[in-house]
Amino acid sequence: MKSAILSIGREIVSGITLDTNSHFISSYLTRVGILNRFIQSVDDRKGDIVVSVRFLLDRVDILITTGGLGPTFDDITLEAVAEALGKKLYLDTEALEFIQAFYERLYKAGKIDSPILNDKRKKMAYLIEGCKPLKNSVGAAWGVYLKDGEKHIFCLPGLPKEMRAMFEDEVLPIVEKLSDRVSLIKEVTVDLNDESVLGRLIDRVMKSHDVYIKSLPEGFDKRQMNVRFTAFGKSNEEAEQKIESALSELLRLINQHN
Ligand code: ATP
Ligand code: MG
Repeated sequence: MKSAILSIGREIVSGITLDTNSHFISSYLTRVGILNRFIQSVDDRKGDIVVSVRFLLDRVDILITTGGLGPTFDDITLEAVAEALGKKLYLDTEALEFIQAFYERLYKAGKIDSPILNDKRKKMAYLIEGCKPLKNSVGAAWGVYLKDGEKHIFCLPGLPKEMRAMFEDEVLPIVEKLSDRVSLIKEVTVDLNDESVLGRLIDRVMKSHDVYIKSLPEGFDKRQMNVRFTAFGKSNEEAEQKIESALSELLRLINQHN
């Protein structure tokens, strides 16, 4: 299973907000054994979002978007994703009731001036036809899970605490089921600080082991370097066993060299 993340919002592409959502989502995807191939960001421009969605869906099985579900003029994610897939939006009555109750609660708590469902608030109840709505335990806007042929598309809010709650509660159980493996990451320190030498040894180990190995240079102040091993397996034990075998081979080659 391959995935991509699309973070949507002018604040992201113009350097105002750091895209921490993609970092959060991709680290979880890796952990559950999914290969995240792309992290892309795009401005709140419908045509550009449509192009990005099509580009990514041509290349991966799972697409997760974040941002652009709220009530403001620049929140156009669902419109754009629907257009990219040739689908329509519909008014979800359950989402509408939820939004109404959400603003009534805020009004009763004295946090907003009016509980009235104006057009902007009502807009958040328009979801993509054929979707499974994803409930929002923190804010007003629901997300969307859409299975389109073999493709899985999730649209999540931009506000990090809303996105995180929806991802953990609603998305993670689904993607965990889609993936038939897990991944494991291990970092070790080795007694070699020349990447050009270490690189050749790593190439040799990677040719004979199903493990991704990356050296992590920090300069030549120390005579050591950290190396990160990533492996996938049907179980934690299988991934761990692959890493241990690759690690002992790399240590053997380093000893031989030193
Ligand atoms: P919502 O559906 O929650 O309204 P939204 O994207 O429409 O999502 P925005 O007003 O764009 O809402 O963003 C809400 C807040 O979340 C802003 O402070 C914004 O900077 C932050 N935010 C949006 N996207 C991201 C992201 N990818 N990483 C970190 N913060 C983000
Ligand atoms: Mg936005």
